[in-house]
Amino acid sequence: MGRHIYVHNPFCARKCPYCGFYSEEGTDRTEEYYRCAGIETQLWASGNIEDADDGIDTVYFGGGTPSFPDSGLICGLLNTIKSSFGIKDDAEITIEINPSSLTKEKAEAYRAAGFNRVSVGVQSLSDSVLKTLGRLHDSAGAKDALAMLRDAGFTNISADLIIGVPGQTAEGVISDIEQFVSLGVKHISTYSLTLEEGTPFYSRYTGRLEDLVPPEDERAMYHASRRFLASCGIIPYEISNSACAGFRSVHNGAYWEGSEYYAIGAGAHGYTGGIRYGHEDSVDEYIRIMSKAKPGDKIPEGLIYVEEQMGPEDRMREYPFLRLRTSEGIEVDVFERKFGRDVHEVFGDAIKANISRGLLEDKDGRIRLTESGLDFADAVIRDFLG
Ligand code: SF4
Repeated sequence: MGRHIYVHNPFCARKCPYCGFYSEEGTDRTEEYYRCAGIETQLWASGNIEDADDGIDTVYFGGGTPSFPDSGLICGLLNTIKSSFGIKDDAEITIEINPSSLTKEKAEAYRAAGFNRVSVGVQSLSDSVLKTLGRLHDSAGAKDALAMLRDAGFTNISADLIIGVPGQTAEGVISDIEQFVSLGVKHISTYSLTLEEGTPFYSRYTGRLEDLVPPEDERAMYHASRRFLASCGIIPYEISNSACAGFRSVHNGAYWEGSEYYAIGAGAHGYTGGIRYGHEDSVDEYIRIMSKAKPGDKIPEGLIYVEEQMGPEDRMREYPFLRLRTSEGIEVDVFERKFGRDVHEVFGDAIKANISRGLLEDKDGRIRLTESGLDFADAVIRDFLG
């Protein structure tokens, strides 16, 4: 069963116009929601007897904006997770922070409750880029938030950086990274702006290619940012993630290993007991179902839906999809230990075809994307999925 927990916090102060994640505006339902999430935690924990002695390795509060609701609700839920599952002394406990909703008091409360890693949704340190993105903070607000987190005792600080925003330049991205380094950031997640169907950005930019950053410029920005990050000692270790030594995300690393994890809350997706499952994207539905549940019950009917039952063959087939995102790629001996098969025998055609296109390399016992393969990762992965 899972040794990792993801908690979805589906509330934001205001919806950003490019965002396709599930979240709702306002705090009206947060008290009820976190009470229900506490009960869901206890229900999952009561089915976790075999791992009870060991405790959980990582907890991740993602969103939405976990720093938006009252910090007492968030810290209260973390306490429930600790008392229900038990957490290892060296567990990584992350909370996503939005600069616009952070206060000094909240930063101190998170640290005191046991959070030891923060992932800050900075996105950019250029005021004009932040304005285009419709964010509620400006660059000064982002810097203040990073200072509050450092003052509260956080040393494991990650920042998100969006690239490919209309009006953004490669020089601007490099300058953002330089500033992150001087502000004590140890991990950077670099995401490309995508037009998500149903968002205001989708309607605004669809069919208006001239207003977007040309794809070749966006790719140039991406590769320039990776090279610059590496030169600063923030080494790319996954398609979107780079870290100083000792600061990789353990929680995300577990996803890329195919490890199981519990998911708590509306819109959350998990993987336990060989089943990949999801919760509906609805706070109302979540509260309606969970408010009838009591500690000691089974997981209530309708709370989750099964996405996939993963047998040994499914896990083996999925493995390249998870590993090819990482800089280590598929380690040939690890694959054999896990699945009892030679990866070349199972995926020979996909490996050969992509090596001949220059998108993959098979060297030193690892099969991984080349520099050019990073731009075609989805197509390479599709070849492995068959
Ligand atoms: S704060 Fe984050 S989750 Fe909320 S709408 Fe903006 S991008 Fe989406």
